[in-house]
Formats: sequence, structure tokens, C-alpha cells
Amino acid sequence: MKMTIDMPFVETCTISECAYNKDDKCHARAITIGDGTHPGCDTSFLGAPSHTHANGLAGVGACKVTSCTFNNDLECSADSISVSMQNDSIQCMTYQAL
Ligand code: SF4
Repeated sequence: MKMTIDMPFVETCTISECAYNKDDKCHARAITIGDGTHPGCDTSFLGAPSHTHANGLAGVGACKVTSCTFNNDLECSADSISVSMQNDSIQCMTYQAL
């Protein structure tokens, strides 16, 4: 049985070292953002010996950053997000402080 879930998608991710990344796109089925305070990617899988063979674009399954204007009851309500490196951590670049 498969579920169809409406999620924001990860438009770009520049973390080429992540096993889910191919061609600046994230191919995990869904990612989780945030640790409650910082909008970091909680799914990145660095240092893996190979990359995924999946081709679908990742969705944002959950976000724990309640200080973001797009956060609605621990879900992201943006149409899409971008992920990149900022201040030595992998972050949601679409984050906007309330
Ligand atoms: S835009 Fe805001 S709510 Fe959406 S994933 Fe990024 S930090 Fe979370």
C-alpha cells in the first residue's frame, strides 16, 4: 500500500557529499529539518561510500523549527525549500525568523 502525501519539496541541495544528493538535488523520500532551535538538515548522510539511485525529489516531512514563519504545527508550509551550507552547518536556506 502506498500513501500520497502533500509536502513542500526540496528544490535544491548543494551538499554533494551527502549520499542522498545527485546533481544538487536531494533524493531522500523525505527529510526532517531542525533541532528545535536551528534549521539544520537532520537527514544528511555524509561520508557514505555511494550515492542513492533514486530519482524522485525529496519532500520536507517534518520541521521542528517553530521560530520560522513557514512553520505550522511542526510542518513546513513553504512551497519548496533550499538546503545549503551556512556557518559550517547544513541549513534550510528558506528559513525566515518570525
Ligand atoms: S522554511 Fe522554515 S518551516 Fe520550512 S523547513 Fe525551512 S525552517 Fe522549517
